[in-house]
Amino acid sequence: MLLKNKKVAVIGGGPVGLTFARLLQQANVNVKVYERDKDALARIKGGTLDIHSDYGQIALEKAGLLTEFYKHSRPTGERLANINAEILRDEFPDKEHLYDRPEIDRNDLRKMLLENLKPDTVIWNSKLVSLEEQDEKFLLHFENGKTESANLVIGANGGMSHLRKLVTDSIPQYTGTIIIQGEVLNPDETCPNFKKLCGEGNFAVIGEQKFFFSQNKSKGALNYYVSFRKPETWIKENGLDFYNNQEICSFLNNLLTNWNAIYKELFAATDEFTLLPMRKLPLENWRPHTNITLIGDAAHVMPPFSGIGVNIGLLDALYLAENLTNGQFSDIPTAISNYEEKMMVYATQAQQETAESEEGIHSSKDFSEILKNKR
Ligand SMILES: Cc1cc2nc3c(=O)[nH]c(=O)nc-3n(C[C@H](O)[C@H](O)[C@H](O)COP(=O)(O)OP(=O)(O)OC[C@H]3O[C@@H](n4cnc5c(N)ncnc54)[C@H](O)[C@@H]3O)c2cc1C
Repeated sequence: MLLKNKKVAVIGGGPVGLTFARLLQQANVNVKVYERDKDALARIKGGTLDIHSDYGQIALEKAGLLTEFYKHSRPTGERLANINAEILRDEFPDKEHLYDRPEIDRNDLRKMLLENLKPDTVIWNSKLVSLEEQDEKFLLHFENGKTESANLVIGANGGMSHLRKLVTDSIPQYTGTIIIQGEVLNPDETCPNFKKLCGEGNFAVIGEQKFFFSQNKSKGALNYYVSFRKPETWIKENGLDFYNNQEICSFLNNLLTNWNAIYKELFAATDEFTLLPMRKLPLENWRPHTNITLIGDAAHVMPPFSGIGVNIGLLDALYLAENLTNGQFSDIPTAISNYEEKMMVYATQAQQETAESEEGIHSSKDFSEILKNKR
């Protein structure tokens, strides 16, 4: 086996890095995950993740975690409305498709994955700051002053990965879309009218070249995104203070001035806002490299407009782990380059699909046409 007596270091304990570690441990590989979060209870920002039966669930099944995933995830309906808060469509998956795309909270997914790793696999509070190659090994330097060594390094540290410069000259490009993310901790009390409108599942509005999407989380909180097009200069020049809720609320009220007051009730009830400029990493200019590669957003970050980022990342975890442990490759560099060739194909396709969706929902095209295409 290629990884016999080798030490694997995974940088980043997101869903992709943890799934990869689980898949390696099933083959008795010595693997550690270095994560910058302080501990397992660190709150992960953002909405829920839908893991698809034809993508991410395949990796979870191979990891022996599919039944457990179903316990922690929720079949979720989708409601579509217009800017006047009129419901246009309300769907819930039928019995046959109940678990095609269930939603799971990011923290619940991390908890499930951690519970299925050997004790002390994840080394918390370990932000990688640099690494160097020495005698066919990597020396990893962490912000906390510690140093570790590994034979194989896997960058699973998300869209802003700095590790990636060892593998590719490509850098994430702004796609022209901004998301403002809002988190409401107690929507039943603070925005009851919006809560009634959105119901228990996902809720979307496409209108005036803006996109709105909200999701209920498992413990009663609500997460939402407002997305709109802006030139890149806006990111630096907007002058907004995202810690000042009132200021962001006024900005959104102006941006969506023609939208029903129910949406404004939601903005006023928001506990935390985050600015998210959308970026995509072009899958080009990968340089020759050995004993190091990238998986998940580190390899192919893309905007969330097709909801497939984590699904594609879980496929990376599956294919790379398989190549490194199935005995079909003569050496590690060949196993890695075979994974990369395959990944480039499906990740490029996912990025194209996402770009089309991003263009469609922010365009002035007829609303009903867009809905038809999204079915
Ligand atoms: C607004 C939004 C909505 C989304 N919605 C969906 C959706 O509905 N469906 C879907 O499939 N995808 C969605 N995505 C994409 C999804 O969130 C990502 O594809 C997924 O989180 C990628 O997982 P990952 O493990 O590769 O990276 P991440 O989840 O980003 O995890 C990376 C980990 O690395 C750690 N880390 C970073 N730097 C270091 C370092 N230097 N040292 C150590 N650790 C480090 C981080 O703390 C983090 O835990 C969405 C993304 C956004 C922005």
